[in-house]
Amino acid sequence: MAEETIFSKIIRQEIPTPLLYQDDLVSAFRDISPNAKSHILIIPNKLIPTVNDVTEDDELALGRMFTVAKKLAKEEGIDESGYRLIMNCNKHAGQEVFHIHMHLVGGEPLGKMLSI
Ligand code: AMP
Repeated sequence: MAEETIFSKIIRQEIPTPLLYQDDLVSAFRDISPNAKSHILIIPNKLIPTVNDVTEDDELALGRMFTVAKKLAKEEGIDESGYRLIMNCNKHAGQEVFHIHMHLVGGEPLGKMLSI
């Protein structure tokens, strides 16, 4: 059984992080330490620690993460200027929170895709 992270508490609103979106499958909120003018995290409500743990049963939630990303990008006014969607997996990608999440970043030029 995977250990819960702070993101489960945010989903259940046990800590008062404002939600930008929530439905039966996914939730979204602003990153606490933004790397760009717009930096939102979109997560499945189900605890999936890493992308390596994704199964076919999760495909609906993972697809929903993209439609929510599109909707939030429009609401942020960054859909036309552009944005980047990022999912980090494990050590070499620098994953810090082991509840998968999609970073939606934009609102300014983002530079090259990888900085190592
Ligand atoms: P990653 O490195 O892909 O695991 O990204 C984890 C992200 O979660 C980082 O960008 C953190 O700033 C963000 N984060 C950690 N704790 C919180 C929190 N309580 N509320 C919002 N974002 C958080």
